[in-house]
Amino acid sequence: MHQAELNRLDDATLAQRARELAAGGSISDPAEFLAVLGIAAERTLGLTPFAVQSQAVLRLVEGDVIQMATGEGKTLVGAMAATGFALSGKRVHVITVNDYLAERDAEWMRPLVEFFGLRVAAVTEKLGPEERREAYAGDVIYGPVNEIGFDVLRDQQVTRREDAVQLPADVALVDEADSVLVDEALVPLVLAGNRPGRESTGQITDVVRHLREREHYTIDDDRRNVFLTDEGAARVEGALGIDSLYDDEHIGTTLVKVNLALHAKALLIRDIHYLVTDGKVALIDASRGRVADLQRWPDGLQAAVEAKEGLDVTEGGRILDTITLQALMRRYPMVCGMTGTAVEATDQLRQFYDLHVSVIDRNKELRRFDEADRIYATAAEKNRAIVQEIAHLNSTGQPVLVGTQDVAESEALAEALEELGIEVNVLNAKNDAEEARIIAEAGDLGRVTVSTQMAGRGTDIRLGGADQSDHEAVAALGGLAVIGTSRHRTARLDNQLRGRAGRQGDPGLSLFFVSLEDDVVTSGGAGENVTARPEPDGSIHSDRIRDWVGHCQRVTEGQLLEIHAQTWKYNQLLADQRVIIDERRAKLLDTPQAWEELAERAPERAAELADHPDREQLARDIMLFHLDDEWAEHLAVMDDVRESIHLRAIARETPIDEYHRIAVREFKDLAQRAVDKAVETFREGTLEEKGLARPSATWTYMVSDNPLAGSGNSVVSGIGNLFR
Ligand code: ADP
Repeated sequence: MHQAELNRLDDATLAQRARELAAGGSISDPAEFLAVLGIAAERTLGLTPFAVQSQAVLRLVEGDVIQMATGEGKTLVGAMAATGFALSGKRVHVITVNDYLAERDAEWMRPLVEFFGLRVAAVTEKLGPEERREAYAGDVIYGPVNEIGFDVLRDQQVTRREDAVQLPADVALVDEADSVLVDEALVPLVLAGNRPGRESTGQITDVVRHLREREHYTIDDDRRNVFLTDEGAARVEGALGIDSLYDDEHIGTTLVKVNLALHAKALLIRDIHYLVTDGKVALIDASRGRVADLQRWPDGLQAAVEAKEGLDVTEGGRILDTITLQALMRRYPMVCGMTGTAVEATDQLRQFYDLHVSVIDRNKELRRFDEADRIYATAAEKNRAIVQEIAHLNSTGQPVLVGTQDVAESEALAEALEELGIEVNVLNAKNDAEEARIIAEAGDLGRVTVSTQMAGRGTDIRLGGADQSDHEAVAALGGLAVIGTSRHRTARLDNQLRGRAGRQGDPGLSLFFVSLEDDVVTSGGAGENVTARPEPDGSIHSDRIRDWVGHCQRVTEGQLLEIHAQTWKYNQLLADQRVIIDERRAKLLDTPQAWEELAERAPERAAELADHPDREQLARDIMLFHLDDEWAEHLAVMDDVRESIHLRAIARETPIDEYHRIAVREFKDLAQRAVDKAVETFREGTLEEKGLARPSATWTYMVSDNPLAGSGNSVVSGIGNLFR
């Protein structure tokens, strides 16, 4: 049917037509199908999709990651694609970066999805189990990646199928795909359960507190690793009254704690990497530059920082299960995604997910001007120039959005600007909705907004304020000016920031400042001797140096990719093992197999229980308890192995092979051990009678392994460190 004919159909007939076109799981006439979706969008949302949006929908349905700039209307594109999947009988999880966007997008797009008689829902932190179950039963489910992952982990602990909340989904459609699939891919989501008691680290903290840099320990150039010198080791050994930290008995225990305490002392800086509020350590999310409520460092490091600050050391629970975002995404039979910056992540997306990137043209031509980097010899000279440039732009009324590397830098810059009498909006909002509002206002006449580059992703910035009342005036001034205070570790992150300006054909400006003292230059260019002849104000005008800065960034990007690949190797094996455990779990949950196996191994006890009304569940509880218990134990063992592998790596063995060998060996007997223990419990009584219980409380968090590196890839490089 043609557009004109389709236009004449009433709602019900149109919806029926879409179902016919999608019948059988694939779409028979894509052009007509898109036309139907478009008409539905027009009738329900008042939005007529641009041609480029329809192309994007098609690429998504084919399973690509699409690159579309900010403000091009990805929300509608995602909803149309999700609806398309759902019409062909697939359940879709639309993965957002936070609760706020999950809720906003689900509500905004609801009329479109419901037009076709499909169900749409949002899963957010505040929902209880019953509401979650209902939401997950829908066709199109919006949810932030951590909530969806936590539900996966919790569902893998249930002992009755009906207690699970998720139903399997066929497709993950990932918004801000590069953040989730690349930058945060190796962030582990953790489910922990209560368990009393942990050792004190007090004495070690005291000893380490008095160590001095260079004499007792050294820090490597990129300030990510710290090493004890011989003198430092001797001093610690003396104070603790032990012979050698490197003896077998200390290497996996005391030495690990000393290293953690040293890491906490030397590399983690209060107010840059964490804040102390209300007697607690609050991590600062390096990529978003604000307090990361749900995050902790791995237990040992968290405790070491708490000890350093003289706070109560929080009780460490037992890790019941964990999953990285990368492993979570690989559970879906199909993944597709959208982001403003996919091209620079092409290698990672192909290597880790077998995903292809499609670039979608802009609806209107880009009118943003990207200035060449302004390069300075020192950070101080650069900072002076940044303040001057902002003051200059502000004097014309042009709105300025400044992207900084961290919270401390944001605040220092804001202070310098305020001294000049310039009013500054510093983005340090604690909630996503507030953050979105501030970002949405960043295009207002004369506004100066300072934030870290990730803040408010998913919000588009309109000229002349959110209501665009001064759109023309701001456009005449050149639109939004975006300033980066240094180049990020990857060009992709630079482009995310640039992409804030020049939406939908608006004019705009982007400009980055660089100093030869910036992290990306010193670490990417480490060991290279480059001379420059700065002007009196510190500025350097040289194409050679400009090229070299780009080169430094590419070196850093290469390092990050390599670290990601290496780290994933460590994760992949455990992820594969988890799949095997889960298959076993499913069988125990959904069939009477637990009872059958136990009855076969312990026939006398089975005979006693023959008339027990709930004998199958009783057997199931026992089997699952021991299976889960062994898995948690396996995770703990492998965690320790990681720590000591790190120490072996210093001795130049091949850590990954060693790690694999141990993981395979440990896992081999796991299932059998779980069954043996279950038989023993079964013979002797019930779980309660043996004092065996699942944790009475569980909690979830995300681990931020490495607070050190700036911008976005912090977690990746942090885990990598452990294995270098
Ligand atoms: P993105 O996520 O790509 O940055 P959004 O989905 O937030 O963009 O959309 C940006 C703005 O463009 C929204 O206000 C939306 O209403 C508008 N928009 C999207 N598609 C269309 C369309 N086809 N016609 C008119 N406005 C649109």
